[in-house]
Order: sequence, then structure tokens, then C-alpha cells
Amino acid sequence: MKKYVYSFEEGNKDMKDLLGGKGANLAEMTRIGLPVPPGFTITTEACYEYYKNGMKFPEGLKEQVLEKLEWLENKVKKKFGDEENPLLVSVRSGAAVSMPGMMDTVLNLGLNDKTVKGLAKKTNNERFAYDSYRRFIQMFGNVVLGIKHSKFEEILERFKKTKGIEYDTELDVNDFKKIVEEYKIIVKEETKKEFPQDPMEQLWLGIEAVFKSWNNERAIEYRRINNITGLLGTAVNIQMMVFGNMGESSGTGVCFTRDPSTGENKFFGEFLPNAQGEDVVAGIRTPLPIEELKKRMPKVYDELVKVKEILEKHYKDMQDIEFTIEEGKLYLLQTRNGKRTGIAAVKIAVDMVNEGLLDEKEALLKIDPNSLNQLLHKRIDPLAKKEKEAIAKGLPASPGAAVGKIVFESEEAFELKEKGEKVILVRVETSPEDIKGMNAAQGILTQRGGMTSHAAVVARGMGKCAIVGCSDLIIDETNKVIEIKGKDIVLKEGDWITLDGSTGEVFLGKLPLLEPEISGNFAKIMEWADKYRKLSVRANAETIRDAKKAIEFGAEGIGLARTEHMFFEGERIKYMREMILANNQEERIKALNKLLPMQKADFKELFKIMNGLPVTIRLLDPPLHEFLPKEEEQIKEVSDEMNLDLNKLKEKIKELEEINPMLGHRGCRLLITYPEIAEMQTKAIMEAACELVKEGYEIKPEIMIPLVGHVNEIKFLKKVIKKTCDETMRRYNVKVDYKIGTMIEVPRAALTSDEIAKEAEFFSFGTNDLTQMTFGFSRDDIGKFLPEYLEKEILEHDPFRTIDINGVGALIKICIEKAKNIRPDIKIGVCGEHGGEPRSIEFFHKANLDYVSCSPFRVPIARLAAAQANIRDMKKK
Ligand code: ADP
Ligand code: MG
Ligand code: MG
Repeated sequence: MKKYVYSFEEGNKDMKDLLGGKGANLAEMTRIGLPVPPGFTITTEACYEYYKNGMKFPEGLKEQVLEKLEWLENKVKKKFGDEENPLLVSVRSGAAVSMPGMMDTVLNLGLNDKTVKGLAKKTNNERFAYDSYRRFIQMFGNVVLGIKHSKFEEILERFKKTKGIEYDTELDVNDFKKIVEEYKIIVKEETKKEFPQDPMEQLWLGIEAVFKSWNNERAIEYRRINNITGLLGTAVNIQMMVFGNMGESSGTGVCFTRDPSTGENKFFGEFLPNAQGEDVVAGIRTPLPIEELKKRMPKVYDELVKVKEILEKHYKDMQDIEFTIEEGKLYLLQTRNGKRTGIAAVKIAVDMVNEGLLDEKEALLKIDPNSLNQLLHKRIDPLAKKEKEAIAKGLPASPGAAVGKIVFESEEAFELKEKGEKVILVRVETSPEDIKGMNAAQGILTQRGGMTSHAAVVARGMGKCAIVGCSDLIIDETNKVIEIKGKDIVLKEGDWITLDGSTGEVFLGKLPLLEPEISGNFAKIMEWADKYRKLSVRANAETIRDAKKAIEFGAEGIGLARTEHMFFEGERIKYMREMILANNQEERIKALNKLLPMQKADFKELFKIMNGLPVTIRLLDPPLHEFLPKEEEQIKEVSDEMNLDLNKLKEKIKELEEINPMLGHRGCRLLITYPEIAEMQTKAIMEAACELVKEGYEIKPEIMIPLVGHVNEIKFLKKVIKKTCDETMRRYNVKVDYKIGTMIEVPRAALTSDEIAKEAEFFSFGTNDLTQMTFGFSRDDIGKFLPEYLEKEILEHDPFRTIDINGVGALIKICIEKAKNIRPDIKIGVCGEHGGEPRSIEFFHKANLDYVSCSPFRVPIARLAAAQANIRDMKKK
């Protein structure tokens, strides 16, 4: 029989896949002697089987759970369902990868009309017992029975209103008794059944609800956004309850061993006296800073400080810890590697090396390369900021800056974003349902909640600017207006605001944002990354702005300059059209000669910026019709402007039309039809290079032929290119260190790379097209089916985002091997989107590529990912 249930004593931190992150770490904390309420974990495998069996518990699960429950009863000397000394448990979700707040948990399970009396008597605290009971009915009612929270909240609010009080903590035992009765009526009304009184029934329903929460909408959405795939399901942790709601010497809290927002090495946390776990995260009462605990319960505080130090040393990483204090006694309920901003990740890594806790390589592995994105985020121009006064200030929950229009609803935020609008999601507080809107928004602003509220945690995870607990605001979500306390300002939906997530300030209107730079800890991390990586990193760039950014972010050359982008600006498109519409070669050459000086000037700029570094220039790639107008009106305009007969122009457009342009007359095919295009472009490249070499620059052009599938294609064009190069160099009487190579984007090229390598001095995998052609997926049409493919798990990843190792990757491997047999020193790189994606970079490292090339903003990410790939490799060896 398969083992589905493990006591905390039987697990450890390395069993995350089986026990979930929460379960594995509860086990680990138990193992190293920290005060964890005892319990056990049902494995993720059981969840997997549950779904596989058509939502039925796997065989043997019941027996194993009952056995462990009995063990637990004996251990803690309480009995589940006992009327005198009842054991209460929490039933908690927890997958291998942390998905904060996305799945369900039920607390206080085991209470009913009888056990509540026993609990009251045993603890001599009737108020607490009934407080727990009403919490249980609400949570169970919501999570298991699917009753809306608001149904219960309305009743609670009514009680508070009648009594004229603000907080739950001010209600007394009689209130709770009445509330419990009303809650039970709600349950009866909503489910047509009595609230289940049998603790065993409660337990099984609870376990099943947690299994089901693995596939609730928000969990699925969270996994999609975070690209989490390949997991079995959620584990279920069943754990003895400890009570933070027993009075003023009890409470619950969340803390981080370091500041998750800045990375500063200072104990950081919040707690709520006389409360249970959910109260802190839900942002219902604003929690107190952890320093307050020091004043109220100094002994517990000292113990907590000791625990956090133990945990950080043990895990060698910043920890996010949940704790509860029951009548002065500290319990730990969860620890995990804390989510952090990119800024914090970088600072913590550098600090931990300085503290001797980690070495450089370990430190590099702790940083999620994608989180560096946030350091490349904009900030508000300090000069503009000085001129403006903030209209409100909240907690700086997630740094960066955001400008957008106010939106009050998640769905609306999503829709406006789809229309290309920039929005700020403004809410009283966020709940996991808001994840879609948060993802769509530039930034998030909430009125309530602390630094560990849902909004704050999720925003930090997304690397999105957020301000929470902004109590200067009075948000009316129904009427969609915001009043600012003490100020004569009313904001409406659609008004522009600017957020500074690093200070918590909210500004009226649009403030200018500044581009980021690499300095301080970030520069240190990049220095270490460069030390440990083997892959070289280049950038895809053709504009001056991008080329400068690329250098600033550490690119070691240009891996792809797309020349067609240079043909759209200003006058150029006109000459381009002249060229396309030419009646014969002579006319075509005349038009090309007008383009030549412009191309040449562009290349000169690029070469100067990249002085000494290789610059790969791809000759004209797209089909010609892309340069011609499409709409009737524009066609008319062009015919007027170019003094062309309208019908003739239309005819030409029609002639160039293709059924499937992606597989049509483009790339080298076009250049073979019109070699004069290749000639002109080569001339522009080489004249620019020759002139600069004369001025003392070091120029390394790499001329790249697109879309080659047959060796004869490259053979033909190479002749044209080489002849032009030689002629130009002779004319200038200079030597330029140039190379001729090809992109590998047609599967046939990959398979015949031994032939092609005889002609090409370098290869660059154009993985976008290679993926498209290997799968036979049209990139322009994947929107129609790819989302479904991912949902139905036909594919694990979007192959246009993460390289498909088994298919496209196999082609890449074959291609490299065959090519290196012929030309061992052939230079091979990648210039598709995948060149900046960490998982793909790991593959390119293993495939022994020379470089990856990606957009300038992903260069730092690629540098780190390349280092991590190599460090992991070294560790294995
Ligand atoms: P999430 O994954 O959403 O954080 P958890 O399973 O961690 O859900 O539980 C929600 C809250 O309930 C947490 O604050 C946690 O500390 C608290 N909690 C869970 N189990 C217990 C328990 N056995 N005793 C007291 N509090 C608990
Ligand atoms: Mg929760
Ligand atoms: Mg938790």
C-alpha cells in the first residue's frame, strides 16, 4: 500500500514535491526542535490520485488518516470530537511551490454544539470558545460549503453596528452565541442542510475542499501567470489548533527575517493581539508592528528573534514566518523562503555573502533572474517629484513607480489593459479574486491592509508597484469615488495618478518616470554573474537608444540588428516603396542607391557605440508587401505622393499578396530574386565599417543571411556579399574583420548544417521561426489555440516563451553537432525571444552555445541566468 500520510516527525525540508512546501517545512521545523503544533501531512500524490480517480479518495487514504489522527490524539492528550476535551485541527493546503493565499484552509475544525461547550469549560474561556465556533462556521461555510463570505460578514457587521463598536474583539460571549445561531441559519438556508455536526464528516469534507482548491480559478490563474507547471497537486496539512484568540496575551502574526521590500537586514513583521491567523492576512484589522510585541510580551519577542535567527541560518535564506501566541506561548505555523522584490533579492544576496552566510555562487542561485526586471523598473523623476506634493501616503509595499488611470474593479482593469490603457487598481483591500486585475494594472493602491496583506504579498511577487494601507483615502467602491481625508480632493474613475511604491506616496496626475541604471548591489551581482558564466550575452538592437541601453546593461555585442526596422522612418519608406514598385532592375538600383547613405549612417552609429564588439546585421527579411499600404485611403495617399497610377499600384499590391507570407517570398528567397538588395546593404555595412576603421575604430561586422534552408541559397548570396565586401575594402584600401553567416530557422537548415557550415562562419538560431516551423504553428494564429493547449496540458509551456527542449532543442543539438564536425570553431548563438528567458538559457548553456542575444532590458537577466546555469553545472560535476 502506498504511503499517503506522513507525521511532521517523518518528513523534512527536501520532501517538498511530496509534502508541499508548507508540509515539508513544518516537518523540518519539528525536526530541528522548534515549537510547532503537532500534525501530519497528506501527500500531493494523494491529491493527484484523487483527481485521477474522478474526484475520489485513493484507496487506503482513510485508514492512514484515521491512524495518524489517533496518534495525534495520544500525543496531545485530546480527542477529536470529544465533548470534554476536544481536539481541534486546521486543515491546510500547500503545494510544492508556494502560492500564497490561492488555495483554501479551514481552521478550528472539530467544533460543534457539544464540543464548543467542552472547549469553553476546559479552557475556562467561554468567549474564546464561541469566537472560535463562529469563525469555524464562517470559514467552513465559505471554503467547504461555498457560501459567500459576505453572508456572514453582514451579520457580524450588524452586531457591531447595533453595539456601536468597530472591532470583533469588542464583541462578548453572548454576541458570539447569537452570531453562531444566525450563522447556522444561513448555512441551512444556503445549503438546505444543517451545519454538519459530526467532526469526522467535517474532516473529510475539509480535506476534499482543500484538494478541490488546487483547481479553483484563482489557483489556476496564479499558476498560469507564474508559469508553474508539472506539479501533482496540493498536500493537506492537518495540525492541532493553537489559539491566538484567547485574549490579550495571545495573538498571531507574520514576520520576515529581513525587510522583503528593501532587503534591509532588520527584523520585520506585524502581529495582531487576540486574533487568529486569517485576520492578519485578510487585512481586516490593521496589525501592529512587531516592535509592539517587544513592549507587550518581551519574553515571547526575544524567543521569536532567536527562532528567526535559527531559521535564517538553517535555510540560508530570508524566511517568511507565521506564528501564533497562545496565552504567552509561542508556536510556529509556517516558514518559507520569503517572497521579495528584486531590489531586496539583490541586497540580501550581497549582504549574506558579506556576513559569511553564503558564498558568491550560492548567493547568485538565490536570486530569481526574472526579479531583476524590477531593478530595471522606472522611478519618478526626482526633480518633478520635488515640485509636487503627495496627496496621500500609505505603506510602501512594493517598489517602483506607476502612472495610470484609476480603476476600481479587477475585471475592468483587465479589459482596459487589453485596450492598451494604463491603469492603477484602487481597492479598499484586495482578495485573491483580484489577481487578474492586479496583473493587468501598472500599480496597486489599497486603503486597508499591512505590509503582509494579500495586495502587498502578491504585488511583490509580481514585481509590481504597490501602496497598501493608505488610510488617507476614503474609497467608495460602489460609487467609484475617492475622497482624501482632510483635503478638498475627490478622485473619480479614469483620473490619472502616480504611485511611488518605494515611499508610499500618491500623486495627482502623470509624473515623468526615469529609466533605471545598474549600480551598487546590482552592479556587484552582475560582476559575480560575469565571473561565473560561460555564455556570452549580446543584445538585439538596431536603434541608437537600444544599442546604448544594451551597452549600459552589459551586452557584449549585438546579436541581431534587424535592418527592415530602419526602412520605416520618415523619407525612407518612400524610397523603399520606390524600390519595390520599380519596373526593372535599373529603377530598383536607383531607389536602392537613395537608401544606401541612410543605411550607412545608421550602421556607423551602431558600430561606433559597439566599438570593438561584434555586430550581427541581418539582411532584409520580411516579405515586401509589409512595406506597402493596406487601407484604401492610404493606397490613394501613396499613389498621389509617388505620382503613380492608382490602379497600377493596386495591381502591384495584389501581385505581392501571399496566401501564407510567413512561408512565402521573404528572407534569402527575396535576396536571391533581388541580389541588388543584398548588394546595397552589404555596401552600406562595409562602407560604414571602412570609414570607421580609418578613424581608428575597431569594427566587427557579422553579415547574416536570413531563412536559409538549403546550402545553395547561402552559396549564391555569399558570392554576392563577398564580392561587394572585397570591392568596398579595395576601394577604401582597408581591411575589415568581417564574417558571413546565417540564421538557422528552417528545420532543413538544422538538419543539413554540415553542408551549410562549409559556407557559414557563424550560425544564429532564430528560435521564434524555428519553433514556428518545427511545430508548424503559425505565430500569428497561436492565440486561437495555444491558451487551450496550456490549459488542457497538451503543452507544458508556451514554446514561444520557453524553448521546447525535446523538439526544437533536439534540432538545435543535431545542428550544432553536425556543424562542429565540419567547422569546429564555428560561432553559434541564439537571437530569438528565448535568448532572454532563464529556463531556455539553461538549455543553451548545456548545448554549449557561444552566446545568447536578447532585448537590452533582458541582458542583466540573461547574464544572471547564464551564471546560474553554469554554477548548477559545476555543482553537478
Ligand atoms: P495560507 O497558505 O493561505 O497562508 P495557512 O494554511 O497558512 O494558509 O493558514 C492560514 C492562517 O491560519 C495562517 O495565518 C496560519 O498561521 C493559521 N493557522 C493555520 N493552522 C493553524 C493552527 N493549527 N493553529 C493556529 N493557526 C493556524
Ligand atoms: Mg489563506
Ligand atoms: Mg500561510
